[in-house]
Amino acid sequence: MTQTHTEFNPEAAAMIDRIRAALDHAEGIRDEAEPDQPILTAKNMEAVREILDLPAKFYPAASFDVVPELNVIPIVESLYDACKELIGDARRVTVTWRVKHGTKAGDITMGTCGLVSGKQRDLAEAEGRPVYHWEVTLALDVWILLTPNQRERLMHHELMHCNVKVSDDDSGEVKPALRNHEIEEFGATAARYGLLPHQVRVAALAMSHTPTAQAVQRWQSGPDDAPLLGAWITN
Ligand SMILES: [Zn+2]
Repeated sequence: MTQTHTEFNPEAAAMIDRIRAALDHAEGIRDEAEPDQPILTAKNMEAVREILDLPAKFYPAASFDVVPELNVIPIVESLYDACKELIGDARRVTVTWRVKHGTKAGDITMGTCGLVSGKQRDLAEAEGRPVYHWEVTLALDVWILLTPNQRERLMHHELMHCNVKVSDDDSGEVKPALRNHEIEEFGATAARYGLLPHQVRVAALAMSHTPTAQAVQRWQSGPDDAPLLGAWITN
């Protein structure tokens, strides 16, 4: 009998079973948690990794996209419009998975956004592969523990790091770049000294969510998006 590429792949089937088991386990954790009980604990993330039983390396987004909860490209696509003013029409974000989350200064890194180097872009073009400008890397052991709203919020955050800048030289070339967070502060510092004027402006404008031209232009959001923005803020 002729074999086709759609033939049953027991290894892939076993991996999908393990991913489903990890997602079920995460749902159980969320269901049983008390309000305000932290979900992203070292113990919970380790349990997820044990169930996944995947070598701790990097995987392209498509590796797990047969599982809807891990199919991230539709989320990226749905958020492009919200970030269009910032990254232009360049739909050039690629997603990479890492099995185990990273840490920065002891904090869990749920995701990162980086520039694809010019060298990598040139090589991709020469080899006829898709050329990407930004790479979002997501931690699988975190993603599985998040709710759909939290996943979308994380992706929105990472896409907000994508930026473009016009080259300083005469060419006027538009180049991919990265954007820093507008507000970075310790709670203790804010409690002691208050927020700085620009931090207050950013927070007030975002939280008031009024349909001012400024807000609409800055966040590409208007009053119709209120439920979605509310979900991002409360989750
Ligand atoms: Zn960030």
